[in-house]
Amino acid sequence: MIKIRANLINPISPEEVQLLKDYTLGYENGIIKLLRPFDPDQDRDSESALDSVIIPGLIDLHTHLSQYWARASYQPSLLPWLNQHIFPAEALSQDPVYAQDLARAFFKALFASGTTTAVVYTAPFKHACEIAMETALHLGARALIGMTMMDANSPDYLIQKTAHALEDSFDLFERYNTKDSRLNYIFSPRFALSCSADLMKQTANFAHQHDAYIQSHLSENKDEIAQVKGIFGKPTYTQVYENFGLLGSKTILGHAIHLSEEEISILASTDTAIAHCPESNFFLKSGEFPFAALLDKSLRIGLASDVAAGNSLSMLQQAKLASYRQSSLSLSPQRLFWHLTLGAAEALGWHDRIGSLQIGKEADLCKFKLNAHHAVDDQLLPKLIYLNDEFRISKTIIKGNTVFQS
Ligand SMILES: [Zn+2]
Repeated sequence: MIKIRANLINPISPEEVQLLKDYTLGYENGIIKLLRPFDPDQDRDSESALDSVIIPGLIDLHTHLSQYWARASYQPSLLPWLNQHIFPAEALSQDPVYAQDLARAFFKALFASGTTTAVVYTAPFKHACEIAMETALHLGARALIGMTMMDANSPDYLIQKTAHALEDSFDLFERYNTKDSRLNYIFSPRFALSCSADLMKQTANFAHQHDAYIQSHLSENKDEIAQVKGIFGKPTYTQVYENFGLLGSKTILGHAIHLSEEEISILASTDTAIAHCPESNFFLKSGEFPFAALLDKSLRIGLASDVAAGNSLSMLQQAKLASYRQSSLSLSPQRLFWHLTLGAAEALGWHDRIGSLQIGKEADLCKFKLNAHHAVDDQLLPKLIYLNDEFRISKTIIKGNTVFQS
């Protein structure tokens, strides 16, 4: 067993976090087997890391691998930004050598940010998704990965034939969804604007039949919403997805900013999970996430980088921005931490496997080095979130394997 003597921060609920000072955490075969106050008799064989704090590995609920090298591309709103910067950037993944270099750089950057689970869109090319899957397997990432599907209102160089988008996605699902316990396939119709009714309907049917994950974007930008309503003739964006059967407990929708009360009720009654992307919402001036209204209906919410509309893969930075993005609601550090860890695991339905430090759970860990000014007290968590760039990540571990060390 590998044993580490350190300080731990562990999420219990959206309101409660445990600070465990001078504990021994042990893991074996990828599973946490030991968690107790340091015992000088039994834990002499521990690695001593009292100058460190260990937290559960961070979870990024929505990010785009194929856009990683297109971060910081300035455009003031979503649709021109996609057309001018993002679609051309995604087209580069048609080249397998480029796609391979990009996938390797992306997962390594995730690990260096302390992220141990990511929900990932790739480009609308089957081989780019295969390369991402194989790279994730090779590097030991925990991820849900999908080929972005787009068969309507899209540039010629990205658009897929409906049948190909479906067949390729089904094939990727069959080959990768159960290949490794750390990996899942996630069906990824990009957003209603770039998908035909047929594509969305058939994707939803197949996913529900096979108990598969689905991800998409919802109500990010007002121009986008107006166009979606115009094309599909529904009173709201959420009803477009509802109509095609895309909502459910294994669906994760990014953004969900401009929602009516009725839409929030539909999302709640279908138990659809939401990925909140604060930096992206700032960057593209998309709007303010209705955190209070969604919490009121007990929706499952995780935070997300949404690279490349978000520029940082650091989930602690996203937590800080989630706090700043709310104009009047004050989110406690405990709640922010929850949406990065156990709350995000719950959004995936994986809260019995990951998201907190608990015997029997998989050992997904992130270790930060403390400096002389970082006292181990109840102010450590707010410091970790608000002063995140002062904390150096010294180790990231996924299912017991060290995937990053500095
Ligand atoms: Zn996105």
